[in-house]
Amino acid sequence: MQYTELERSSARHRASLSAREATHLLERPLYCPECGFKIGVAYSDCAGHVRTKCQKCKTVSILNLAYFRRAGKKARLATGKLLPVLEDD
Ligand SMILES: [Zn+2]
Repeated sequence: MQYTELERSSARHRASLSAREATHLLERPLYCPECGFKIGVAYSDCAGHVRTKCQKCKTVSILNLAYFRRAGKKARLATGKLLPVLEDD
């Protein structure tokens, strides 16, 4: 998909807003069920299912975030990155 400059600007603005909103949320890491590699981060307001691909073993997993709700000791405040990680399907 080719973004126009206006679409790119709008997408960056929304990503920046999203990052700012997440600064007060807790993060919890998600790990690949096959190899244990960290495959993403869920925020404390996350709900529903996500599909993610492990960058190490290439396994595609569908995770119900309700099963990964426990924050535990590793939960921490969001780092407030300005842009999300973009991945292709
Ligand atoms: Zn993996």
